[in-house]
Amino acid sequence: MNHSPTAARLATRIERLKPSLVREILAVANKPGIISFAGGLPAPDLMPDMRDCIDPDTALDQYGASEGETAFRSAVAEWITHNGLPVAPSQVLALSGSQQGLDLAAKLLIDDGTPVVTESPSYLAALQVFELFGASVLPLALGRDGPDPATLDALLRQHRPACVYLIPSFQNPSGYCYSPEVRKVIAEVLDRHDAVLIEDDPYRSVSLDVTHPMQPICSYLKRVPWIYLGSFSKILRPGWRVGYLAASPQLMPYLVRLKQASDLHTQRPAQAAVANWLRHAQRDADLARLRAGYRLRRDAMQTALERHFGDLADWDVPQGGLFFWLRLRQHQATRSTLDATLARGVVFMPGESFYPGPMKPTNTMRLNYSLSTPAEMERGLAILADCIAAVSAA
Ligand code: PMP
Repeated sequence: MNHSPTAARLATRIERLKPSLVREILAVANKPGIISFAGGLPAPDLMPDMRDCIDPDTALDQYGASEGETAFRSAVAEWITHNGLPVAPSQVLALSGSQQGLDLAAKLLIDDGTPVVTESPSYLAALQVFELFGASVLPLALGRDGPDPATLDALLRQHRPACVYLIPSFQNPSGYCYSPEVRKVIAEVLDRHDAVLIEDDPYRSVSLDVTHPMQPICSYLKRVPWIYLGSFSKILRPGWRVGYLAASPQLMPYLVRLKQASDLHTQRPAQAAVANWLRHAQRDADLARLRAGYRLRRDAMQTALERHFGDLADWDVPQGGLFFWLRLRQHQATRSTLDATLARGVVFMPGESFYPGPMKPTNTMRLNYSLSTPAEMERGLAILADCIAAVSAA
């Protein structure tokens, strides 16, 4: 009998499951001595102290409800409402990371060949999951204030997609934040069609200097159903894998069943600790400290970038989130550039893998600023600039 993996009768969708460049790079980025601008890892020294929030109740060691802990759902409903989207606890589902919400949404909405609109560029692991379930991805070009609503309207009219996936606040990878006007008009456009909005909002609390309230687009919708995804990975601990979704009431029964089929429920002690933190007197002070720490790092990266990339690239200073997005003027930053920088101990994310569809520009790069010290930024960016010029000249 042949037991080789290639002879196994795998599902046809496995052919659509692409390896993730981020995972490959993160595998090497963790090695000692490597300067990594590649991942989206929050800074360990800025994570709030959660010792007071751990719940010793051993009842939490038992199986729990697929929807999530009652205390978690009500604390999260208040949190989402505080962030501008009024929801009831019954509209909240605890997730094992907001990534799980993308998986559940894809299972709910995507069949083989289903058209789905995403920003271009967009979050790699969302594209990966949509494509796994057979989506035919329709790229929507993203500008610094968001996408052009008229272009979205034309895509919706022409292709009648099942859903539209947007990351309006500190988008991954671009860092762009939709303007208040674009948010409102996009909601009006969506309400004229019947696509479900999936709004992904994991970076909202890493807001450094945006002055408008970053109103969730879901909050403006009057007619079409929506799924809003949030995360505690960027502000508390990614390793705890606690996120959430809120959704229109008519979608909730399906999402709860999909969650049950996926992993029964999110781990209860972590939900309890997060719920306690949300109600903790220190919460806002923790967030203020986190933002102050990220502001310093973002500014240090900006200074180092001006020195090493001033002649090579254009970029906007991100007003939140964890990334700089560089557009090289004449050079390329491809996989072979990455091989060259890796040989010199520096990793970054070439931008091309974030583009859905066949057009993949090779002149963009995503640089994380939250993990490196100012000295590492200096050294790492000097090496990056050097390699980019050398590889492009070769
Ligand atoms: N959405 C976006 C846009 C992200 O950048 C990330 C994390 N990199 C996630 C979702 C998933 O986050 P988590 O599962 O840790 O909540």
